[in-house]
Amino acid sequence: MHIDKFEEAIMNCRFCFMCRHLSAIGNVRFTEVDTPRIRAAMLYGLRTGTNSFDDEDFVDALYRQDLSACCVRHCVNHYDENGLALAARADVVEAGKAPEAVKRLAAKLVRSIGWKAEGPSSAKATEGKAGDVAWFLDGTTAADKAAVAAAKKLFAAAKASPKIITGGCIGKALKVLGFRRAALTAMDEFAAFLEKEGVKTLVVSNPAAVNALKQDYPEFGVKLPCEVKSMAGFILQAKLKFSKPAGEVYALADDFIRNYQGCACMDKLLAALKATCKPFGTNDEETYCCGEGAVVLDKLHPELVKALAEYVAARADDPKKDRFVVASAYVKKALAKYGRLNVVTLEELAASCL
Ligand code: SF4
Repeated sequence: MHIDKFEEAIMNCRFCFMCRHLSAIGNVRFTEVDTPRIRAAMLYGLRTGTNSFDDEDFVDALYRQDLSACCVRHCVNHYDENGLALAARADVVEAGKAPEAVKRLAAKLVRSIGWKAEGPSSAKATEGKAGDVAWFLDGTTAADKAAVAAAKKLFAAAKASPKIITGGCIGKALKVLGFRRAALTAMDEFAAFLEKEGVKTLVVSNPAAVNALKQDYPEFGVKLPCEVKSMAGFILQAKLKFSKPAGEVYALADDFIRNYQGCACMDKLLAALKATCKPFGTNDEETYCCGEGAVVLDKLHPELVKALAEYVAARADDPKKDRFVVASAYVKKALAKYGRLNVVTLEELAASCL
């Protein structure tokens, strides 16, 4: 089973309650079952035969997890309870026990596989020094008109005119739901598409997609024909001149950038924009990303995403005036829609400083 690779997490987390306060879902449902300790105990029970995927409550708990990886980051031993949860989902799927809603969502994602490229031909993809540049505009970011306009402004300032790649699942959401074989198909096809398009540098807005390309693809043995840059990384490398300081903001750390990749690009960009970052909430350990790590939590459990956004809004000093910055259009949408907060993406903040 996939969970067998996470022996340390199963054996240690089942007795430990040290990171319970970082369980975002546990914090809004007030339930022990939504903490790493109980999930590990249930998975231990699976191995000893006292628990089974026939128990719908058990499987539902696995699909409720926010997957922020905050617990892994703050665990003194960095036991990978997040990887354990993903492995458990894969085992659920391979046992044929995925809930119907999960199966329907996965089927929809499989149908979405496919992309198109628009814009300059690869020979003219950029006027700058970076080579053949393309921008992967995922569906979530594409739906955010302000973020798209800001990114275009930044590309223009960098004298880059990338071709724009749009389309469906590149494997991340399918992997997160436990459909590893379908995820591998999406990854193989996306890599082949990039090869056919002659992409040498792929700029990616969505941190989930960046994480897929930088961590999931190597994990699945899929080789990309291009270098992958996050939007923040691209902006930093372009060395754009910012004429206005960003001012005071609450910058919410991103699940993928901070917890999965341990990358400092968001902090570096905020520093380059002369943003004065105010501390938010009661600690800087937990996630305020409304289930970003779970990628499609808003599709499976919108009520939980609403609760998570309200949890964040309840910690704002002045919800009507405070200015929040996030790295992902997913997080912006959740916080603006359910938390009624004033949120911009990093691209928007950077573009406003030009
Ligand atoms: S991840 Fe670390 S802190 Fe959290 S339950 Fe497991 S052992 Fe404890």
